[in-house]
Amino acid sequence: MKTSGAVLYEHNTPLVVEELELAPPRQGEVLVEIKAAGICHSDLSVLSGVFAMPPLPAVPGHEGAGIVREVGPGVDKVKPGDHVMLLWAPTCGGCFYCQHEQPYLCDFRDLTRGGLMPDGTYRLRKGDIDIHIMLGVGTFNHFNVVSQNSVLPIDKDVPFDVAALTGCGVITGVGAVLNTAKVKPGSSVVVIGCGGVGINVIQGAVLAGATRIIAVDLLDSKLEQAREFGATHTINSGAGGLVERVIELTKGRGADYAFDMVGSPQVVATAVELIRRGGKVILVGMGPADQKLDLPLAPLRAMEKSLLSCYYGSSDLCTDLTMLLDLYKIGRLNLDGLITQRYSLEQINQGFDDLKAGKNLRGVVEL
Ligand SMILES: [Zn+2]
Ligand SMILES: [Zn+2]
Repeated sequence: MKTSGAVLYEHNTPLVVEELELAPPRQGEVLVEIKAAGICHSDLSVLSGVFAMPPLPAVPGHEGAGIVREVGPGVDKVKPGDHVMLLWAPTCGGCFYCQHEQPYLCDFRDLTRGGLMPDGTYRLRKGDIDIHIMLGVGTFNHFNVVSQNSVLPIDKDVPFDVAALTGCGVITGVGAVLNTAKVKPGSSVVVIGCGGVGINVIQGAVLAGATRIIAVDLLDSKLEQAREFGATHTINSGAGGLVERVIELTKGRGADYAFDMVGSPQVVATAVELIRRGGKVILVGMGPADQKLDLPLAPLRAMEKSLLSCYYGSSDLCTDLTMLLDLYKIGRLNLDGLITQRYSLEQINQGFDDLKAGKNLRGVVEL
């Protein structure tokens, strides 16, 4: 069948929106009509080549939701007509990690990271050129074929754009608080970097009952948004004195938890300084792959400060995503407010320009 998708042929060049040929689903695969796709900072890292994967040409996009239109043999998870969210880290249910409460580290992800289908073949083509897809989903595309391990059925009353965002930034941010850090009620939390995921760390901290939620960013506009989502204090780090300000706001001790949403060694080093003895730094942000951390070990150990890594919100995707959408339905999570701009697929390059300019909390492509 024909679809139209946004293809990246070379790093740092605009996406080309064009007609593509899509092969039907094979064993264990489903054809999804994608209705909404989030424009995320990780896509920007693919466009710029900061992330080496997927090989080019490729359809980027790793956040999406839509409707199942066809299923291949052996699919028992969904049927045509079901609404689904797309998962950029699939879960198989059967591997070591899936059976040991870490499905977000599922072995199956190794099969989709390289931009191919799990069986090592392609479904998308342009003429005689095979097209890769980002993380097994490639959501900047009207239709795509994906593994059934990369979809999660959702209720039909959940808007597609909300579902698309929940599958990445929302679960990563809220999961970092509830699952990775296990923030306790009454605690103090510092969030360094208040973009699309940082805002959801703030929402997660509110859900966890943190009483001091300190948002840190270089842009005052981001700090204003952070307050709307529950930050109790804001600090523009451009003014300097961040560590001193946080220590002052936490009774002279330092914060219980600090979330690095930037993914830079400097931010992690600062986060270690501004937590209290026994405090935790949670590494969530994703920077360039070649960065290295250089920290003095003795004070870390002597003060029992911990560094915790967070991948996909350390989440059980099935139960946690359903929980987040239930919290949204009863008004405990503000997901509509995350979306500040909508684009057509033809406007996708504008969407990335706006992301680079820091204009949007989250932009969404409507398909
Ligand atoms: Zn994302
Ligand atoms: Zn697995």
